[in-house]
Amino acid sequence: MLIDTHCHLDAFEFDADRIAMIERARRAGVGCMVLPAVDRDGFGRVRALCDGQADLRFALGIHPLFVPAARPDDVDRLAMELDAHDVVAVGEIGLDFFVTDIDPELQEWYFVAQLKLARERDLPVLLHVRRSQDRILKHLRAVFGRNGPGGIAHAFNGSRQQADEFIKLGFALGFGGAVTWQRALNLRRLVTELPLESIVLETDAPDIPPEFAASERNEPANLPRIAQVIAGVRGIATEELVAATGANALRVLPRLAATYIE
Ligand code: ZN
Repeated sequence: MLIDTHCHLDAFEFDADRIAMIERARRAGVGCMVLPAVDRDGFGRVRALCDGQADLRFALGIHPLFVPAARPDDVDRLAMELDAHDVVAVGEIGLDFFVTDIDPELQEWYFVAQLKLARERDLPVLLHVRRSQDRILKHLRAVFGRNGPGGIAHAFNGSRQQADEFIKLGFALGFGGAVTWQRALNLRRLVTELPLESIVLETDAPDIPPEFAASERNEPANLPRIAQVIAGVRGIATEELVAATGANALRVLPRLAATYIE
């Protein structure tokens, strides 16, 4: 099954045509979309969007770029909501050391607090990893250990060695529009060399537009073409890539699988 493991369908960019955009994705063959929240205000938005829609599922978390506006009791609220609702993961959480104006210590406080919530509930995490691979791996080893709940390192752009460390901790790596750019040579090599069992697909809509829709707002309807490009780069049939990445997503997000087991 074609699964978009990471798309921000509650983003304001979709305010004008959200329902039509979701319908386009369904018609294009996207079987399931995972909507991670990025802040406390988003918790209710992603829940409302997924309400009554079997193919839309949500995750809840506080994104590193949103910690300046967050309050420590947002973590308590998150804990409450994780217990009250059928989330597929804690996310989007992580560390972003590409931006220089958000205190790394503050980012790490929210990240570790949320990792602990995930660990206590055996919930996987959706990770935002930017210039922070080794630091994130350090916290994962400390809080999750070898048999932690794992999850997905989304929009992965680290080295092969770093990828292998995430895989050892039970993570899959998310790839999307960035791989479709011809000049993304390192990323294309990585997505070719990694074991097929470690890859999941995503759009990160409305961000990270693929090369074939470079000047447009990105949306999940682009996922089939993204899958085609990644399959082409790996030299396998698109159907094989779709089947494998779909199974991988259901493995690392077990509550997603529950939806599809009749
Ligand atoms: Zn995201």
